[in-house]
Amino acid sequence: MTQTTSSEVCARLRAHVRGHVWQQGDDGYDDARRVWNGAVDRRPVVVVRCVDTDDVRTALLVARESGVPLTVRGGGHDWGGRALGDGVVLDLSAMRGVDIDRGARVAVAQGGALVADVVDPAAAHGLGTATAVVRTVGMAGMTLAGGYGGLVGRFGLALDNLLSAEVLLPDGTRVHAGADGDPELYWALRGGGGNFGIVTSARYRLRALGPVLGGMVLYPLDQAVQVLRGYRDVIASAPDELTVMAGFVGGPTGQAAAYIAPTWCGDLETGEAAIAPLLRLGTPVGGGVGPMPYPDLIRMFEAGAQPGQHYALGTRWLPTLTDGAIDVLAEAASTWPSSSSLLALHHFHGAATWVAPEATAFALRQEHVLAEVIAAWRPPADAAANRAWVERVATALAPGALPGGYPNILGPADADRVRLGFGANADRLLAAKRRYDPDGVLTAIASLAT
Ligand SMILES: Cc1cc2nc3c(=O)[nH]c(=O)nc-3n(C[C@H](O)[C@H](O)[C@H](O)COP(=O)(O)OP(=O)(O)OC[C@H]3O[C@@H](n4cnc5c(N)ncnc54)[C@H](O)[C@@H]3O)c2cc1C
Repeated sequence: MTQTTSSEVCARLRAHVRGHVWQQGDDGYDDARRVWNGAVDRRPVVVVRCVDTDDVRTALLVARESGVPLTVRGGGHDWGGRALGDGVVLDLSAMRGVDIDRGARVAVAQGGALVADVVDPAAAHGLGTATAVVRTVGMAGMTLAGGYGGLVGRFGLALDNLLSAEVLLPDGTRVHAGADGDPELYWALRGGGGNFGIVTSARYRLRALGPVLGGMVLYPLDQAVQVLRGYRDVIASAPDELTVMAGFVGGPTGQAAAYIAPTWCGDLETGEAAIAPLLRLGTPVGGGVGPMPYPDLIRMFEAGAQPGQHYALGTRWLPTLTDGAIDVLAEAASTWPSSSSLLALHHFHGAATWVAPEATAFALRQEHVLAEVIAAWRPPADAAANRAWVERVATALAPGALPGGYPNILGPADADRVRLGFGANADRLLAAKRRYDPDGVLTAIASLAT
């Protein structure tokens, strides 16, 4: 884009939008283009921090009339930095308002709300909903393509709790996506990501949720294989109330440690008995489990999820945790190039599996384990070595893995795997894409191009 065009777009936006507009060279531009993954270093022409739905619509139409590509930024936590492109960034981070309707058990959240913005006020009313395990992730961005977390067994994915959404289509039309509005858009939004429109607000189902029982227990690396085999046995018969993450983090000595991170949501005494076998998988070297409000539980991973570090991620959907996969993970933890790295296993079971594969765009409804291979480093550490480690481990996990992958964490280079992940829903999603975004304005999920 020429300098004149970008200045013209910027001038038009400044004339019509109430939110702040930054272009290259402006004070604050570098802060405005910063996302969670410090390895993402894109320089969009303009960042527009919209203040409300009218602002988003105006910015959207200006960008479109100017022929400039646009991207949408919510919480800025996408690993690959999908929020930033070369053109206009519609930044929703000033739109974080949340209303809790306690009687109806509904949270209405603006499109830029973070997980914490929803779960904190909900918890004050003894309510909660299914979310990611990190508080600073964007609620809409996470929900639109999935939403794995500690409540998945009891409440399903985050998207299973999306009741409806107010959406701006790429032509500026406002649509109410829901069973009581546009049901096809509602279907597509629950798994198809931000590919069809911009969600300016969404309604989430809340459930009664008192203190949960949870935490993280660390085991020494030399016990990792036995610990993960024991983990596999426990989750095979886990009740819906118990969803357990596992994997590896940097331990107290700097060496990798295996971790088990249960979330129990139900009667606390019953939960203690259900969690007890997880505390006997080896000789713990740190951590612990106890009752706490759900918002506190999801602070747990914050230390390892620091904004601004450089990250690379690989992922697999594992139908079960085989001995081979466990060996790969244990070896990976003993050879990772950076002690800030993380291996994470999310168990998908219970309520999330009761939904028919065709009921929402998110198609994988069989019990499985989502594996994440996450390298984290700070420059001048060797980025290539970290990326190579991710690639090597993700490749080693491929035998026996399901062919697709979780669209929220796969990038444009993985378009084939994303499409496979949608299974029999892929054709219907492509039809929805042609209907709601015929010009292919939104490119959030690469395999859903028109
Ligand atoms: C530290 C960390 C922890 C995570 N934990 C989990 C987890 O526990 N479970 C899980 O399932 N996922 C998890 N994720 C993945 C996360 O769900 C995705 O990265 C998600 O896309 C983040 O949304 P965001 O709004 O923060 O990101 P952004 O980078 O702002 O947005 C990513 C894309 O989402 C779309 N989008 C965002 N908001 C809107 C909107 N209002 N309307 C339309 N499209 C929108 C856009 O296409 C945008 O480009 C985690 C990610 C990180 C970095």
